[in-house]
Amino acid sequence: MTSQVFYRKWRPQTLAEVVGQEHVTKTLSNALKTGRVAHAYLFCGPRGTGKTSTGRILAKAVNCLNGGQGEPCNACALCQAITEGRAMDVVEIDAASNRGIDEIRELRERVRFAPNMARYKVYIIDEVHMLTEPASNALLKTLEEPPPHVLFVLATTEPHKVLPTILSRCQRFDFRRIPQAAMVSRLMGICDREGIRIEPSSLKLIARSATGSMRDAENLLEQLVAYYGPEIELHQVQALLGITGDARARELARHIVNRDITAGLQTINSVTLDGLDLRQFNRELVEYLRGLLLVKAGAEEAIDLAPEAVAELRSLAERASMDHLSKAVKLFRGVDVDFDGFSPLPLELAFVECALPKGEEAPSLVTPKKEEPVIAPAPAKAKEIEAPVAPPAQGMEQGEKDIEYFRSRWREVVEAVKGMGSRGNLDAYLRSACEPVALEGDTIVLGFYWDWHKEKIEDPKYRHMVEMKVSEVFGAPYKIRCILTERKKKEQGHLIEAALEMGAKIVDGEEE
Ligand SMILES: [Zn+2]
Repeated sequence: MTSQVFYRKWRPQTLAEVVGQEHVTKTLSNALKTGRVAHAYLFCGPRGTGKTSTGRILAKAVNCLNGGQGEPCNACALCQAITEGRAMDVVEIDAASNRGIDEIRELRERVRFAPNMARYKVYIIDEVHMLTEPASNALLKTLEEPPPHVLFVLATTEPHKVLPTILSRCQRFDFRRIPQAAMVSRLMGICDREGIRIEPSSLKLIARSATGSMRDAENLLEQLVAYYGPEIELHQVQALLGITGDARARELARHIVNRDITAGLQTINSVTLDGLDLRQFNRELVEYLRGLLLVKAGAEEAIDLAPEAVAELRSLAERASMDHLSKAVKLFRGVDVDFDGFSPLPLELAFVECALPKGEEAPSLVTPKKEEPVIAPAPAKAKEIEAPVAPPAQGMEQGEKDIEYFRSRWREVVEAVKGMGSRGNLDAYLRSACEPVALEGDTIVLGFYWDWHKEKIEDPKYRHMVEMKVSEVFGAPYKIRCILTERKKKEQGHLIEAALEMGAKIVDGEEE
């Protein structure tokens, strides 16, 4: 979405320019000065903290024709070729994009040959934990007997997923989230040189929202300039950041602390209806809950936020128990938004589990076992949904009555579709994503809440699969027609329906 012009343009070109990672850059600079550069480095840390930039700088520094000062000169032919990405001896591999099989194979063959022009061949492998097993093993073979003219820089956001045998052959550096103050001063420098007028308070907001990633901060700044031009007001920054849901993540945290189920589900609903990126929203929520936990634990200095923000955390943390907060962090950290075709269901379930009054938390809604009954929060209401055939209400129009029937049994169709589709997850495009809204002869009109679900099911080959299962479930040939519709705001009902779809059964507490 963003062009990342600022990010590329203002990439650090020397170790001294790398922001907030002095513990790494000083050590590297000393190694360069004393000629004790290792054969393989592993750079670990969150995205946007300078891992691959540092790798490139290192590639220049070891090859620089005016080298030896612990930094590249950035002026010689080799430095320039590397900066411009046209140096044959510096190879960047993105393990995330193609999992590196071909490249690692090629690497194993080529690694034996001396570099073309440079002193060192440098391989920068980004997201190295994503390499397939054969590729990882091939890389390991090379690391076991590294030719003297080769330098490896492996970068990863998830070091625990890298083969231990690879880890043990690398010198490891941990990149940290960039402190807010360092980020603000870097952004200020960029604004100066780009002729952007912006208040320090705005830059603080940007830095805070970027949660330690320089790349995110630079992209945000660039977006602001793209939207509003080179003179940026504080309220514009707030407006743009509001779009990312930061304020609503804080709102939801408040509802968790207050155990306000209705308000919390409404917040999740509004976030979903506005089409926010639920993954990003959940990240922000977890980050905020973590802040609360740290404040509660008396570790405020571990939080890199403005004093006002810390004060806000403090007043909320006072009202929650340590137990409750740590449970919330654990639950939301474990939320897998992708699991259900981007439906808000995993968030809703985690929220309810978190916000239930103390003592009522026992039967877990999040992972109901297939055969085990679960007591849902509102059994009376839920029973209507559970009933396989909705009782025809007096005076109801015939069409409406029928559609009620299809609606009441719709989850059977969803279940029947499970395992179909090219990835076996066709049901994810129906589950909590649509409902029967009308009946036109033998055509069931399906109302979808999101466009991308609708488009998927409209694809003739998937539509046929669904129609087949609809016909099986209802015992007669039916067609479907897809339309877009507003999601109904009946949070409680929706949640229980969702739990039922996941295999939960309703038991009336008094019956057994
Ligand atoms: Zn140079």
